[in-house]
Amino acid sequence: MAATTLNVDGVMLFEQPFARVPYENYRKVFRTSQKNIEKELGAIQTAASELARKARSGAANPEDALRSIDAMMKRAEGLKKKLNDLQTNSGAPTLQVIRERLQHLAAVEDIESVRSPEFARWADTRLDRWLIDWTLRHGREKTARRIAAQKGIGTLVDIELFSDIRRIEDALSRHSCTEALAWCSENKAALRKVKNPLEFELRLQEFIELTRARKLMDAITYQKKYLIQWQESQAVQINQASALLAYTPISAFGPYKRLYDLSRWQTLIQSFRVAIYNLSTLPTEPLLHLAMYAGLASLKLPACYNQETTNIDCPICDPDLGKLATEVPFSHHVNSTIVCRITGKIMDSDNFPMAFPEHGTVYSREALEDMASRNEGQVTCPRTKETCHFADLRKVYIS
Ligand SMILES: [Zn+2]
Repeated sequence: MAATTLNVDGVMLFEQPFARVPYENYRKVFRTSQKNIEKELGAIQTAASELARKARSGAANPEDALRSIDAMMKRAEGLKKKLNDLQTNSGAPTLQVIRERLQHLAAVEDIESVRSPEFARWADTRLDRWLIDWTLRHGREKTARRIAAQKGIGTLVDIELFSDIRRIEDALSRHSCTEALAWCSENKAALRKVKNPLEFELRLQEFIELTRARKLMDAITYQKKYLIQWQESQAVQINQASALLAYTPISAFGPYKRLYDLSRWQTLIQSFRVAIYNLSTLPTEPLLHLAMYAGLASLKLPACYNQETTNIDCPICDPDLGKLATEVPFSHHVNSTIVCRITGKIMDSDNFPMAFPEHGTVYSREALEDMASRNEGQVTCPRTKETCHFADLRKVYIS
């Protein structure tokens, strides 16, 4: 029975990013709305109090007052339109995605058995989602879009997120930080919360490029504007970077030469990827791999790697799949049956195992009863030579 009951908690372990990504998208929409409201209402308030001040001092003339009120109304209407557009184009579709995903997750809670056709269908969709995740991480966006369209699961996968990642990484590989910095500013609060230094690393790179081009005045201005604010956490790096004003890429040595190294761009791409995965709670490895590891680990036994004990029905015993499993830990169920060392018979609830009181060595009840009947109730452990009365043995329960 227990083996076919669906382990909902286990299923949910993989689903955090599935719920998190659209939630983060919605938060962005909400923040943009909030910024617009603050900006426009602030301006209206300023204009209103200015008008009131003029009216009190008697300096207001009716025409100016009307014009000012008109301008305020235009602003309010503009704000309303902007918020409307935002809600229609981004807010509502994102909410729809959240709703569909939560429904998809909720559906699994009603499934009772892993053998039911409902679960088979649900797991098929999950496999499609994982395949799309895998293809997106490998830069195969067209394939991902095709699978999503074919299976009708566009709202259940994060193609847009990965297009963003690709666009920003492409810019970094063309040695431009602009796109990545824009992303950092969109996610400033979240990055600060997890103390991610990506923005500093990007700023540092822009500074390095200025010194590489020997635009020294620009570099000094840039340093004051963007690097000094990181002084508290990045003092060492900032000091080293300052030395680049004196060293050219050719004259630099040691840590200064490393700062000029173009491979820093590759490192930036990796740091960016880690940061964006982190904020979306996406694992750095494809979900498909994680699921495979989990599955392989639950089956893997030492016997799988012994030619004499391989099992034709076991996927790990297959040489190719077994190779995939080399890095995963062994299953905890190393012994599926416990065998008595004396009789070689299986120990179970009929022939339960019994332990010696001192050393805890274990043999089957049958073997020990037999031994006791021949030795006036005394039993001796063949390994430790511990001797006791049969009545002093402890019954061992198999869990
Ligand atoms: Zn095996």
